[in-house]
Amino acid sequence: MSLNVKEIFYSLQGEGGRQGEASIFIRLAGCNLRCAFCDTDFSDGTAMKLDEILSVIRQYPCLWLIWTGGEPALQLTAEDIVYFKQKGYFQAIESNGHYSLPNGLDYTVVSPKGNIKYAAKINHLIDEIRLPVEIGDKLPDINILPHAKLYFISPIFSEKKKTQKNIDYCVELVKQNPQWRLSLQMHKLIGIE
Ligand code: SF4
Repeated sequence: MSLNVKEIFYSLQGEGGRQGEASIFIRLAGCNLRCAFCDTDFSDGTAMKLDEILSVIRQYPCLWLIWTGGEPALQLTAEDIVYFKQKGYFQAIESNGHYSLPNGLDYTVVSPKGNIKYAAKINHLIDEIRLPVEIGDKLPDINILPHAKLYFISPIFSEKKKTQKNIDYCVELVKQNPQWRLSLQMHKLIGIE
């Protein structure tokens, strides 16, 4: 078994319900979408066997993995999850929600992108919906989204000048829609990966 890996790095989860927790990020190559605001290079990965990935992540004193991308659900299987679970790891995923998520994950984040009506069809248990928002975006009816434990609005950090205005916009959205919470991309604010 092998996965097409863009990069592996050790940092803190910068956003959402696990913000601030040390985590090993495994960024898988490839995505089914091309979002205008995407700031992630997910092309040209390297095929790595699971035991090669294990030998890289074992250097870090941390048992939380975050499968991210790109779109990790394009590649990740339940067998991959079992392999790392047997090695003692807890596993989270950050997905755009277009594909079924593999079984066995310990924490699931879905960030719906584009026309999010597809998100209504997600039947996986979701821990966290994290919705990227730009000035002027309307919030979807929370009832059309899959049930999740936490619902976050994440202001898109694009051009620096626009960021504060977008944060202000999202703060107002949360005040008017208190089922949602604000999630800032802390890693960008404090300059970590
Ligand atoms: S789904 Fe995520 S990784 Fe894929 S293009 Fe959109 S922002 Fe980028």
